Amino acid sequence: MQAFNLQSLLRPHILSLKPYSSARDEYTGKEGVFLDANENPLGSVTESGNYNRYPDPYQWAIKQRLAPIKHVAPEQIFLGNGSDEAIDLLIRATCRPGIDSILIMPPTYGMYEVSAGVNDVAITKVPLTPDFQVNTDAVLANITETTKLIFFCSPNNPSGNLLSAEAIRTVLEAAQQSLVIVDEAYIDFADTPSWTNELANYPNLLVMQTFSKAWGLAALRLGMCFASEELIRVLNKIKPPYNISAPTQELALEALAHEAGKNELVAKILEQRAILAENLRSLPTVQVIHPSDANFLLVQFDNAFAVFEHLIQEQVIVRDRSKVTLCEGCLRISVGTQPENERLMEVLRNRLNAPISTDLPLGTGEVATKPELVSNA
Ligand SMILES: *Cc1c(COP(=O)(O)O)cnc(C)c1O
Repeated sequence: MQAFNLQSLLRPHILSLKPYSSARDEYTGKEGVFLDANENPLGSVTESGNYNRYPDPYQWAIKQRLAPIKHVAPEQIFLGNGSDEAIDLLIRATCRPGIDSILIMPPTYGMYEVSAGVNDVAITKVPLTPDFQVNTDAVLANITETTKLIFFCSPNNPSGNLLSAEAIRTVLEAAQQSLVIVDEAYIDFADTPSWTNELANYPNLLVMQTFSKAWGLAALRLGMCFASEELIRVLNKIKPPYNISAPTQELALEALAHEAGKNELVAKILEQRAILAENLRSLPTVQVIHPSDANFLLVQFDNAFAVFEHLIQEQVIVRDRSKVTLCEGCLRISVGTQPENERLMEVLRNRLNAPISTDLPLGTGEVATKPELVSNA
């Protein structure tokens, strides 16, 4: 089998593309009289600091601090305006519209499909098995010469579970003409090592993470990619020059100096996840609580839509996933603070005590008739 070759993965015009050379590319010194970028020399109209200078296009300060945490070189890191920007850039770098395709495993994160759609790129769907694991044989059987990207989401959204490492490894080894992406948005909540540890073994691997979940910085829009230096150079070449704003870079640096704080947040959420799963288990309308390695629970209810509507009426908002492949009757519930989770439980219990008419018939509440509830929480 031919070994992975980045050149043949990329769209031909991307290979030969000359990137925009920004003012900050051409002179990288810190000191000087800066008359090169048409900035406002006087400052900003804001009171909370000056933002009149363009930010570092390559975010080196963040990468220097992030690299030792992730055990990669700074040159192996790409930062995007959310993981969503990285997904879009990866598709645009590799997939010829109308010709190439990506492979995804539903139920999974919606942005892979949206981004492919925006770029007129076809999608091959190989559903997970009913226990939300990789159907390895079917994945292998569906990889063709035009399959440029294979997306694994682990822990998976919306099911919450880690995908089998063995399955991912098998695909990494077999798919030598494709780039294998492991989206680890929820890795901090899982008790397993990151695939970043395997980057040296697999040049066709790219790992995605984000500041949006465990770090509690969704509003900043900051996603991370870890891959070979060669591939990261390509992403840097095609990204918008100043894709990460200065305030985002400042706040990310501040966050990275408090990694222990992130770990504390994660520990609190995991504690609440266990309590929430335990409480949900006691409800007769709850059929299944899927095992979670993330900061949410996928929960199957009797009459999920009625539960969803009732929650909304009480201003408790969860995600209705009941129409999604393999998620029939399921709501996805993010783990909240203790008071938020208690409020959720209160509303769910109240509904059982005073069911609204459209809800009927309700389950009998006989615990013995319920399927075995599983949760590793
Ligand atoms: C939340 C989430 C992300 C994060 O996206 P950002 O654009 O970085 O906020 C990425 N992948 C998955 C699977 C997610 O659920």
